[in-house]
Parts: sequence; structure tokens; C-alpha cells
Amino acid sequence: MISEEKLQILTESAKYDVSCSSSGSRRKNEGGIGNGYAAGCCHSFTPDGRCISLLKILLSNDCIFRCKYCMSRADADVPRATATPEEICTLVMDFYKRNYIEGLFLSSAVVKSPDYAMEQLVRTVKMLRTEYNFHGYIHVKGIPHADSLLAHEAAKYADRMSYNIELPSETSLKLLAPQKSKESLLLPMKQLQRETLAFRAEKRKGYFLPAGQTTQMIIGASPEPDGQILRLTQSLYRANGLKRVYYSSYVPVVQDSLLPAVGAKPMREHRLYEADWLLRFYGFSAEEIVEDDGNLSLELDPKCAWALRNPQFFPVEVNRAPLEVLLRVPGIGARSAQKILSARRYAKLGFSDLKKMRVVLKRARHFITAGGKFFGTENQAVLRGLLTAGEAQAGAVQLDFFRELQAARTALTGEL
Ligand code: SF4
Repeated sequence: MISEEKLQILTESAKYDVSCSSSGSRRKNEGGIGNGYAAGCCHSFTPDGRCISLLKILLSNDCIFRCKYCMSRADADVPRATATPEEICTLVMDFYKRNYIEGLFLSSAVVKSPDYAMEQLVRTVKMLRTEYNFHGYIHVKGIPHADSLLAHEAAKYADRMSYNIELPSETSLKLLAPQKSKESLLLPMKQLQRETLAFRAEKRKGYFLPAGQTTQMIIGASPEPDGQILRLTQSLYRANGLKRVYYSSYVPVVQDSLLPAVGAKPMREHRLYEADWLLRFYGFSAEEIVEDDGNLSLELDPKCAWALRNPQFFPVEVNRAPLEVLLRVPGIGARSAQKILSARRYAKLGFSDLKKMRVVLKRARHFITAGGKFFGTENQAVLRGLLTAGEAQAGAVQLDFFRELQAARTALTGEL
């Protein structure tokens, strides 16, 4: 059994990776233990947003690389530990049976060499599937510079894999993570994407990354503006078929003159997630979401900010506008837009109908007409004020919620 000390070191070192939440995998239980069926691995989040339903652990934190921002880098003075594949497997099974976890998120530092580290990851996931008959959700990290055959082998047993881009440009990689390169991260992603498509097209038996690939970028450790981050995100979705790009606000866990002394603003990360949503589900492109300075507005969500920059686009008549136009209206979500399309086939829609469809009229009324009626303001300055006030109110509600959550937790556990 893995020692408590080792477990603490390896789980502590893994907590900064946020690319593990969600899955969408459809792995069935075929007579073994656990399953990752339908909605995939259920997950929940700690108050600071970390995913907690997976056992999130490194196989080793004994890294030969020297990424400046990382507490496991080779020259950091931290306790080191390396688990064996057998230890990880026993731990997963034990935790699963106790109902502590529903799956595994397994990563590793580059211990000894990229190939060695990747081999150990492959051995672990293969052993879990074939010897322990574990059918639960597994997300495994890809190690940059490891042999492509090892990545292929891991993909046969994992539900999801991720190569973390970490920094959004080659220049920043060279500066802050000199042993990594854009190629060492993007090429394996492309290879896995090709192999996944071939696997599906040929309808082969078994599994090959059923939950696809994800990646993570650190926000604020390097100077790239939001526009550059979102263009990279866009190309990862379009050209590499990634399921999700995660953004993690830079947290200064180590000191280095090349790194900022303070962490990134959480609101920046939040806005990037909103913009990411617009890229994936609302037909926006990275180029049009950002402000003139190349960044997202921190004051307003990116859809409202876009609408304010494009007054010529509005108001939109909800009884006639096509789906792609409705999706651009602040306050109309993807589901409400679909509901509008279905309902207006039978009757002309008014504002009361839109309310029933959960359109957020507080925002939408300034950008739509319903049956020719308009209940918003066209004064841009007033409109900006109203939207910004609405955002501030929503932020305060969210803050109260987190305060209440924290108070409840303190009352229950006595923790501060
Ligand atoms: S490769 Fe870089 S980021 Fe990963 S564990 Fe090693 S030093 Fe840290």
C-alpha cells in the first residue's frame, strides 16, 4: 500500500492541473468494477474550483524538466516521491470501493526521461483495465517528447488524455518551460486526433479515447493578451478536435524573476471561460470577441461587450431572426434560442412568451423587438451603465454564495 506521506506529496503536486473536469465518456461496465457511462464521471468542485470526484494524483513529482512556474521542477527544493503502477492501482481500487472517487486523473512529472514517465503511465492504466478490471473513468496526461507509440497505447485504455499547452506562445514556452516546445505538445494531440477519427470511422471494437482530449493554459504567467489565447483555443477546437480548453489563473507558488509576483485576476479566467463558451456554442470567432486592446472586458461579459460594440446589429425581431442571429443576443441562451424557433412556428411571440422561455429580459429587452415592440433603451451610455450594474449585482450574489458556503463549511468542520 502506498504510504500516507507519498500520497500527500503526489496529490498535493497534482492539484494545480484543472484539465480534468467533465468527461462525456460512454465506457460500459462489462462485468468488472465501476463504469464511466453516459454523463461520464460525475464531478464536483471545491470552493476554489478544483475538481474533487476523481482521484487526482501524480505518478511522480521527481521531474527532470525546469518549468519556472512549477513546484515540481528539477531544481525546486521540495520533498520528492514516485509511486509504482501497482501502488496507484491498489489505491484506485481501494478508494473506488469505499465510494471516495469515481475515477482517476493520472499525471506525472517527467521522471528519468519522457519515455520512462509515459511508460509508467501506460503500465498503470493498462494494469487497471486488464488486471483489475476497472471500468471507471480514467483521464491520463500525455508527456511531451515521449514516443508516439506510448501515447497510442495509453489512448487504448484511457477515456481522455491531455497534453497541457500551459503557455500560449512559443516565446513564453522557451522562456518559462525551456524543455517543452509547441511541437512537443501539438504533434501528439494531432496524432491522437487522427487515430481517434480512424478508430471511429473503421468502427473498431473496444475503446480509443472515447472522451477525447483536453488541454490547459496558465493565464497571467506570461504576457499574451486574451485575443492570442482565444485564437489558439479556436484553432485547438477546430483543427485538433479538442473537447475542452481549460484556463487556470496563474498562482505564484514559486519565486522567479521571470514570473509575475502576483497571481492573475480570477475575473480574467472567468471571462475567458465565457468567451470559450461563445466560440463553442454561439458561432462567435476569437477575432470578434476581444476589445480593441486585444483583451476581454473585465467589466462586462463578452457577449454583452460585443453587442455594445455592434449597435448596428440590433434590435433583432425574435419572430423572424435566424438561429445564428438569436444566439448573438445578450440574454438569449442556446436553449432559449431553440425554444423561440420551435414556438414561433405556431404563434407570434411577445415578451411574456419570451419570459416563459427563460430569456433574460433584463438584458435581452435592449436588443430585441417582439412583434415590433421594443422595451429597451437605445442610449448606449445608459445601456452600458445598466449592463455593468447587472454584472456587479450578479458578482455580489456569487460572492455572497461563496461566503455562505464557506460559513457552512466552517460550522460543519470547524475549519477556517
Ligand atoms: S514538466 Fe514542467 S510542469 Fe511538468 S512537472 Fe516537470 S517542471 Fe512541472
